[in-house]
Amino acid sequence: MAGCSHDCSSCSENCSSRDSKSLLKKPHELSDIKKIIAVVSGKGGVGKSMTCALMAAAAQNKGKVTAIMDADITGPSIPRMFGVTERAQGSENGILPVVSDGGIQVMSMNVLLENEAEPVVWRGSLISGTVMQFWTDVIWTGVDYMFIDMPPGTGDVPLTVFQSIPLDGIVIVTSPQDLVGMIVQKAVNMANMMNIPVLGIVENMSYIKCPDCGRKISVFGESGVDALALEYGIPNVAKIPIDSELTKAADTGNIENFQNNYLSDFFDKISKKLK
Ligand code: ADP
Repeated sequence: MAGCSHDCSSCSENCSSRDSKSLLKKPHELSDIKKIIAVVSGKGGVGKSMTCALMAAAAQNKGKVTAIMDADITGPSIPRMFGVTERAQGSENGILPVVSDGGIQVMSMNVLLENEAEPVVWRGSLISGTVMQFWTDVIWTGVDYMFIDMPPGTGDVPLTVFQSIPLDGIVIVTSPQDLVGMIVQKAVNMANMMNIPVLGIVENMSYIKCPDCGRKISVFGESGVDALALEYGIPNVAKIPIDSELTKAADTGNIENFQNNYLSDFFDKISKKLK
């Protein structure tokens, strides 16, 4: 193409020399991040942040240096779940993430706002730009596993993250009352378009456990998630029950101390695959 600057990141032409890898952005020069997993969902409220938090807690409990980038700019819930109330600090080199009591590095819109109840009423491009700054301007130190809590759906931010950050894979979160098939299919197709592996699928709010006999009750009917995983070749499936103790732990900022981490084995399986 005439006048090509060979900088695909600032050009929208779809010419033959476009290399999708060239859209990848470098992290901060002082950052060191080994594995990156994005947690995605088709719609809000299905437990994407809960899944992201439990996976991070599982990694941290197994002695991995863990980080969470909360890319859900307009609905950030990660700091609350980890009891993180401090504001992020800057150094002359860049922005430093806030560290949870258990040692997880966290960056989120809510650790930048003066008041966490302040709404973020921004256009998509500004939101995507902020997420990219979480990648390029934040100093992430010696991270074994970074989990990215994506906003729901397949909009601007997921697209920017998929194109700009070298993800090792995604985990898809659904709930049984979701239109599971279609939503999973959309997420799988998006990941395939971007050549990113789907590492696993989590069905949240999958069942409740009878407090008297311990039997699992599928409140929303039988789950089709295993069949779906088989159909799309998704290697790992986890199911999280509706558990009021889990809600309590998340609401009181104690998610990293939650004893019965439903995603502990799931994280093991995924981390083995990523080695
Ligand atoms: P999303 O990120 O998909 O919008 P969240 O993870 O923020 O959803 O979850 C929405 C709400 O449901 C939160 O209050 C969370 O504590 C609660 N929640 C999520 N999963 C469970 C669960 N398995 N059992 C009980 N409460 C849950």
